[in-house]
Amino acid sequence: MSQVTQNQGLIRDYELPTPEPESPFRPRRPYRFGTLCATVDNPDQKDQYGSSSVPIYQTATFKGVDGQYDYTRSGNPTRSHLEHHIAKISSAGHAFAVSSGMAALDVILRLLKPGDEVIAGDDLYGGTNRLLTYLKTHGGVVVHHVDTTNPVNLHAHIKEGKTAMVLLESPTNPLLKIADLATIAAQVKERAPDALVVVDNTMMSPYLQRPLEYGADIVYDSATKYLSGHHDLMAGVVTCNRDDLAKQISFIINAIGNALTPFDCFLLLRGVKTLAIRMDRQQTSAMAVATMLDRLGFKVHYPGLTNHPGREIHERNADGYGAVLSFTTGDKALSERIVGATRLWGISVSFGCVNSLISMPCVMSHASIDPAVRAERGLPEDLIRLCVGIEDPADLIDDLEHALLEAGAVTVSAGADQHHFVRATIPHGGITISRAVEKLAYNEHPERKRENREWFVSAPGKVILFGEHAVVHGVTAIAASVGLRCYGLSSPRHDGKVALRFIDLGNFSHEWVLNDLPWDAVASVGVGDPHPDALDQRLIDAIQQRGLPPDIDQNKQAKAAAVAFLYLYMVMTHGGERPSFGFTVRSTLPVGAGLGSSASFSTCVATALLLLHQRISLPSLPEPSRTPDAETHDPGHVHISHAGRRALPRQVVEEVNHWAFVAEKILHGNPSGVDNSVAVFGGALAYTRPGFGRKSGMEPIQGFKSFRFLLTDSRVPRDTKKLVAGVAAKKLAEPAVVEHILDSIQSISNEARRALGDPELPRDALLSALAALITENHAHLVALGVSHPALEAIRAQTSAEPYGLSTKLTGAGGGGCSVTLIPDDVNDSVLAALTEGLISSGFHPYLTSVGGSGLGILSPYDPANYALDTSLTLEESDQRLSLREVFEAKGVDELTTWAERRGRWLYV
Ligand code: PLP
Repeated sequence: MSQVTQNQGLIRDYELPTPEPESPFRPRRPYRFGTLCATVDNPDQKDQYGSSSVPIYQTATFKGVDGQYDYTRSGNPTRSHLEHHIAKISSAGHAFAVSSGMAALDVILRLLKPGDEVIAGDDLYGGTNRLLTYLKTHGGVVVHHVDTTNPVNLHAHIKEGKTAMVLLESPTNPLLKIADLATIAAQVKERAPDALVVVDNTMMSPYLQRPLEYGADIVYDSATKYLSGHHDLMAGVVTCNRDDLAKQISFIINAIGNALTPFDCFLLLRGVKTLAIRMDRQQTSAMAVATMLDRLGFKVHYPGLTNHPGREIHERNADGYGAVLSFTTGDKALSERIVGATRLWGISVSFGCVNSLISMPCVMSHASIDPAVRAERGLPEDLIRLCVGIEDPADLIDDLEHALLEAGAVTVSAGADQHHFVRATIPHGGITISRAVEKLAYNEHPERKRENREWFVSAPGKVILFGEHAVVHGVTAIAASVGLRCYGLSSPRHDGKVALRFIDLGNFSHEWVLNDLPWDAVASVGVGDPHPDALDQRLIDAIQQRGLPPDIDQNKQAKAAAVAFLYLYMVMTHGGERPSFGFTVRSTLPVGAGLGSSASFSTCVATALLLLHQRISLPSLPEPSRTPDAETHDPGHVHISHAGRRALPRQVVEEVNHWAFVAEKILHGNPSGVDNSVAVFGGALAYTRPGFGRKSGMEPIQGFKSFRFLLTDSRVPRDTKKLVAGVAAKKLAEPAVVEHILDSIQSISNEARRALGDPELPRDALLSALAALITENHAHLVALGVSHPALEAIRAQTSAEPYGLSTKLTGAGGGGCSVTLIPDDVNDSVLAALTEGLISSGFHPYLTSVGGSGLGILSPYDPANYALDTSLTLEESDQRLSLREVFEAKGVDELTTWAERRGRWLYV
């Protein structure tokens, strides 16, 4: 029940009594707003048990006939507490809590009768417009929309006896236009004394603005916003001072039954207690964000900025600038990319929450307004609205800056001073996104997009850290990705040919006329279907006999790679599409050294072909999806989602893994799947072969930490099959000895797996445990007879003083490589001396890390693609021809750094 019905005659003074002065010389000041907010205290409603928090009276009815409450629609003690509190902080005699902001407006508009005239702003909240339009068409009410930024604009419509209500918002949402509420209220009262001045105060909350203090008759808030502050309830509050209005409002609420439920009253009361402190933080951060954007040269709408129109008026009427701001970028697609690229800012309608939100009003909250009307009202299509929360402002700014960079709205300035981002500009003065970004824009016409896009992909190699050889006999092996990678770049062609270039396989290159390939032998696999377990031998034979250049026999590795590529190209073809392109592969991995180069090659080929055949697609820029809109309750508003933007989607990764395995089979006959799993998923995994009475399969090692390793290629070619057969023969001859070794290796693998996945183990302890396990594991491999004098020489060199490092051979022996663990405290000069020593002994050392990312795809919509590469001028990068040329010409040592700087890679 409202204050009116409970207590006719009504109290105006809700002020929390200030305690008695301690001495006549030290009077106490009235409590300030923050204290009023936090202190819920109603002297007329003392709790019988002295509860600190207002209890929830979750009851529909109350017993008895003479009690203060009878039925919760009419009144409820929890609601009375809330209403008392809201009145107190709003300088109001009366407050009412209802089920939403729109419910509050509905209650207020029911004060009108047919024939009444309403003057309303032209930049009102969309839901308000909708309800006014409904009244116009169904209630016989006349509504005039005017620009309220100038009080004079209202004069023509203010008619004594006719104008019943003037409905205002200031600042408006999302353009933050300012209306002089005090002046308008005074002028309305002068010209039409009976007209009610109603203010929607949602954007400010009573903390920052209390329009009842300067002439408004009724003020309402969507309490869903700042008053609650947590986006965990819907509520509206109505406040007024006039007893006659309060009586009518109370009657309407009771009559229609939209008062706030006891539970929501409780939640709202809890939220309101922190209003002041939240608002302080939110508006300080909003100011910092607005200043940052303003400095970068965006057009920013925020009353806190000195150039904001109406700022002085706002400062007269309000105590702060609020935490909503908006800005334009000059390009709608760019704005969409910015919104989609933020991580901390939630893409959502509404505002006032402790969490920061970002939205594009024209595609979200205001999408229901006809674009022509939006344009007429000056609502820019590229407008981005920011609603600042209580997170650390440094994180908010950091996230926004990175989103601006990713989207191409800013670039990194060369002379990196304290503000190192600069607005992306074009020579003729206009501010826009770079041409490179436009070319890469994901939202291009689908046909052009398909034809003209380059795809840049990469995948890591692997090392077996523990358990090689023993794995053949059922022992668990630990495999991890290495920092050395294979890269593939596909560039479109328009000549019906496909070209391959394998620079690091003897610089093999060849072009095929697509129609000349042995298409008669192909049975393509349906889109989404898995490739059958068995390879199509007929197609492999046809490719080998009719599809290869005669001189390829001299380059066996290139031949196998070309067959795998053509096989995948042909079986993936569907719908008569035969995409024409060039594909160049580079590898920073030594090929054939047992480091999974073929799996990483297979992963690159599979990924590029799946993309070119449109069997997988990447998460695009935020695509509009239809969800109900919280701000307008309008089904069918577009809602941009972050979903899938951060990493490669699971199905894409699974599909790549499946096809990479097919390519691996072509290259290797019967692979275990470990290499391509590591190439695709990265990190580390434990693999156990089936058929040995142990739990078999591959299990990722969660929490694997990356380490530095020195990989050394002994350059001694070794025959894996022979080595494996040798171990098998030894097992037959000396079963007890070999079983003992295998058991020991299993214990090493178990111990390594436990240690690698143990989040509690300090890094120092982990590194020394790994070093000991490496030494131990190598001794067992020696005992199995699979080492080699060259590998022993590397081991001796790395373990000698001053290095004292632990080394073991790695892989089944196929490539004669060793791995040396490099603890964190080994400095660069020591490492340089060690690698020089190894090189002079005829070995090839690679300093790398293990446990990093898996498959990577250079984001096709990454604006930073060219801007980050200081080795290319903007013109060169805009020509885009150079990507391929530079890729092919780069030295192997520079390749990874160069590739990373092309832009944002999407990694597994
Ligand atoms: N007024 C303004 C300024 C708003 O932004 C909103 C909601 O977004 C409302 C009123 C309606 O409030 P509610 O969604 O709580 O019904």
